[in-house]
Amino acid sequence: MAKLYFRHGTMGSAKTLNLLAVAHNYRQQGKQVLLLKPDFDTRFGKEHIKSRAGLQMEADVLVGFGTDLTQLNFEGVSCILVDEAQFFTMEHIEQLRNISLDREIPVICYGLRTDFRTKLFPGSLRLMELADSIEEIKSTCFYCSRKSIMNLKHVDGKASIDGPTVQLGGEEKYLPVCYRCYRQQLEETSHTRSEATLSQ
Ligand SMILES: [Zn+2]
Repeated sequence: MAKLYFRHGTMGSAKTLNLLAVAHNYRQQGKQVLLLKPDFDTRFGKEHIKSRAGLQMEADVLVGFGTDLTQLNFEGVSCILVDEAQFFTMEHIEQLRNISLDREIPVICYGLRTDFRTKLFPGSLRLMELADSIEEIKSTCFYCSRKSIMNLKHVDGKASIDGPTVQLGGEEKYLPVCYRCYRQQLEETSHTRSEATLSQ
């Protein structure tokens, strides 16, 4: 049985770079990979999987909410790679789990573990439950030297837990932080807020 992998990391932990490197290695050996991504991630143009380091490849399949992944053409495919897997539905993850078993194709999913409110994304939750292998892609906190485990949202330079959960942004909007810095930044924002209220 081929495995289902979940490789998670915070914003800016080079998840996509890792995905592109794996795809490159397969292709150099003359093997086919299938690259999947959610269809609403339009940061770099709809069709491209692009890392912040500048490398990019074209996605083979843009996955919408209603896409049935089991119906894709897997002829000759040696590996399935998924970018931004946190935005896949639980059903998509279950489909990928079954594909790894029924088609004997390894599936490697890259994504965030939690959103900026520290909650698991539905896709990430299902991956935590179903993956054979869960690997952390480590990176350092924006403010200190600890490992980052949270994604802190910044709006106009201030930490925030407001707004929609599903929002894709670059490094200007989300910062990888450790939990200590996550809490501290949000406390500072709420102090600034209450001071502003008092002075009114
Ligand atoms: Zn920190």
